[in-house]
Amino acid sequence: MQYKHNSSDSFTRCSFCGREIARDKMILLDEQDQKTVLHMTCKQCNTATLVFIYNNNAGGSMGMGIATDMDHLEVVSKLGESPVSTDEVISVHKLLSNYKGNSVDFIKKV
Ligand SMILES: [Zn+2]
Repeated sequence: MQYKHNSSDSFTRCSFCGREIARDKMILLDEQDQKTVLHMTCKQCNTATLVFIYNNNAGGSMGMGIATDMDHLEVVSKLGESPVSTDEVISVHKLLSNYKGNSVDFIKKV
């Protein structure tokens, strides 16, 4: 199954107020073959959002954003010191299974 929807836009919006996040407020925290983690801060409401994006082998991708009270440095240290638990991975994948979008173009420009 390959998703072709052009909805990369949805990854760049504030998880709280829905405003589009400026590029200079996005920080790439982690990027591996099939996983990308971004930290974004909304200029409007100052809410920080963590965005997890998974690319599948078919060239599509899916992702989700969650509000966080951690700044990007805290997130980096968390990512480094404590791997995400299996339960968290499963819950994220369940959420992602309902998402149809493509963020590849957006990510490559970051
Ligand atoms: Zn906001």
